Formats: sequence, structure tokens, C-alpha cells
Amino acid sequence: MQVPTVYLKPGKEQSLKRFHPWIFSGAIKNVKGNLEEGDLVRVHDVHDNFLAIGHYQIGSIAIRILTFKEEEVDEAFWVRKLQTAWDLRKTLQLAGSETTTAYRLVHGEGDGLPGLIADVYDRTVVLQMHTVGMYLQREVLVKALQQVMGDQVTAVYEKSEGTLPFKADVEAENGYLYGRSTTHVAQENGLQFKVDWEKGQKTGFFVDQRENRALLEKYSAGRTVLNTFCYTGGFSFYALRGGARKVHSVDSSERAIVLTNENVALNFPGDERHEAFAVDAFKFMEQAREQYDLIVLDPPAFAKHMKVLKNALQGYKRLNAKAIEQIAPGGILFTFSCSQVVSRDAFRTMIFSAAARSGRNVRILHQLEQPADHPVSIYHPEGEYLKGLVLYVE
Ligand code: SAH
Repeated sequence: MQVPTVYLKPGKEQSLKRFHPWIFSGAIKNVKGNLEEGDLVRVHDVHDNFLAIGHYQIGSIAIRILTFKEEEVDEAFWVRKLQTAWDLRKTLQLAGSETTTAYRLVHGEGDGLPGLIADVYDRTVVLQMHTVGMYLQREVLVKALQQVMGDQVTAVYEKSEGTLPFKADVEAENGYLYGRSTTHVAQENGLQFKVDWEKGQKTGFFVDQRENRALLEKYSAGRTVLNTFCYTGGFSFYALRGGARKVHSVDSSERAIVLTNENVALNFPGDERHEAFAVDAFKFMEQAREQYDLIVLDPPAFAKHMKVLKNALQGYKRLNAKAIEQIAPGGILFTFSCSQVVSRDAFRTMIFSAAARSGRNVRILHQLEQPADHPVSIYHPEGEYLKGLVLYVE
């Protein structure tokens, strides 16, 4: 098959020479061959030197690079890529673990596979494609997963309806590409979670908070805990296991609260220390009649684009100011932002303003980030999205 070639404008090859995996549409000079969304393309500089091979997509990021080597992108290629990802998860002691069976196998650019997310829940892999190019590879990706994971994968569910570009002409439908899952329960550090990949948010569970939840467990003994934006309740069970006196979980989604209660029942049946509320988190804190000793703020990305960054920072500030004002003396605040456009510095400055407003003495105990199964390519700093602080409020 003839792969079309894209020629870059002079100078636009520089970022590729530093292995950055994106080419913006404005960098393209001309194209040889017929180019359709989702196609593999060769990328050459203006002097016709080979630079890379990637997937073409209509939009401001026009090409996402799969390889900087002149190689065939065939089944063996996908097997090599997935094998590398799998080997890393073994190194991280996630693949093959008895107590943690929920983890990320492929984290887009962080695993050299832009446009692809793969999360493992027990023996089910949930794929989420963000590019048409990856979507068109789904059959071969399933074969490659089977080759690499062997009997560790018995079902592959694909969930790209909501993540493919809005105008892509592919009519994606969520569903199983292979097998069918016999269980929806996965484990994280020995705690059990029901994961709803069919109807849940993202791939069904936020695996990226695993280590931060484990840290919270250590601080929970004897404390009253408020877990806002709780989704499936992750932080709440760690708090319960850590010996919290009381745990309140809050999420504006009814469905999330149902899942949280189901998960509490799985791990701590009938535990009266826990209560869940389907309410807006801002309102809940506004109206709270008690002070908590430990508060978690893990809101969704308030800013998805630079344009709304200022408003988003205001939102984060209002939320954090509320929590810092209301937390009990000696309280511990776990606060996060998962907006990629909110830098670590901007996040910290925002917390500084929120803290200063309260006039209380606030100290940083920990600086948190995404775990190692969400790796950041040194050439693609944009991959760093999760940031958090653990604060001690006097
Ligand atoms: N902390 C969770 C993940 C949070 S995802 C975990 O560990 O798994 C963000 C959650 O915030 C979603 O479940 C969403 O329903 C909820 N949410 C969004 N806006 C909200 C609001 N204003 N008040 C309360 N919850 C909200």
C-alpha cells in the first residue's frame, strides 16, 4: 500500500528532531498522494529527508508520530509497542500483581502510542481511542494484545464513541471487540472496586489516583474525612481501611453515589462510618455543619483549553479557599487538578492565594503527581497532567 508523504515547511522539522510527537497543521507545506483522516503518513523535510511516520487527523494537531524510524507499521510493529508497554507494567509490579488488578497499560504519548489509552481491569482491557488512526487499527490491536498478554486478557472492550473527534466520519459504537467479561470487579491494593466501563466515566475508573489514595490511608486513623468529587469512592475506602472515624463521600452524580455505596458494601459491608451524598460539592461545603479533619478535593478538569484557564483557576481557588477555611485545626487537605493546561506552578500559586485569604498557617507535606503507569515522555511534557498537594492546615 502506498503511504502518502507529507512535506514540512522549512524549519518545521526542528521539533521532530527533538522527538516531539505532534505536527501542527500549519507546519505542513504539501502532500504527495491521497490523504484521508486516519491514514498512516510519512513525514519528510523540505529536502525530502525522512523524519517520521504517524497518523493523520483533521485538526490543529494534524499528525501524531508513531515512529521516528523508517519501519513497517504492521502487526509486528503493534506487538513490539504493546510488548514494551506490558514489560514496563511488569517492571512496575502491576502486571501479574495479586492485589492490584486495575492499572493503565497504554498511556498515549507516554507509551509512544499517541491517541491510544488502554486500562486493564482484571482480565478485561478497555481501549479508548482519541484518533481515527488508532480507531482504524482496533482489530490488529486486539490481536497484538492477545499475543502479548496471553491468558491475562479474556475480553477487550472498546469505548471511543465519546473520545473520537466529533466530526470523524467513522460511526464508532462502544462494545466488546473480543470475548466478554465475566466480572466487573477489579482490585487496587487489595480493595475491591466494581468498574462500570460500559456506562462509567472515562474507562470506568480513575486508576491514576492509586498511589495518592494509598498515601491518604496513612493519614486517616481517627479522622473525620470528607471526600468530595468521589466518583466511585476510591479515596473513601482507603480512609475506611486506614481507620477513619467517619467518612462522607460527595459527588453531584447520582450514579457515582450508587457506585460508591456498592463499592463500600463490597469492602466494608454495613459499615456505619460511611455516608454518601449526591450533591454539588461547593454547596455541600457551604452548608456543612461540622468541621472535617481530612478533606479530599479531586474535581474534574475545570480547564480543557488555555482559553478558559483563567476561569478554571478561579474555580479551583474558590473550592480550595472554602476547604482551607472550613477544615479543622491540624487538618489535612488532599487537593488535586487533573487539567493538563494548569501547570504545577499555576496550581501552587492558586493554592497560595486560597490559603492567604483564610489567614491560616498552611504547610506543604507532599507534592503529588500521576503514577508510573501514566508515564510522561521526556520529549512530550504536555503528558504531565495530574498534580496535587497535601497540605497541613493549623
Ligand atoms: N476522585 C475520584 C475521581 C473524580 S472524577 C476517584 O478517585 O475516582 C470527578 C467527579 O466529580 C465526577 O464523578 C463528577 O461526577 C464529579 N463532579 C463534577 N462536578 C461536581 C460538582 N460540582 N460537585 C460534586 N461533584 C462533581
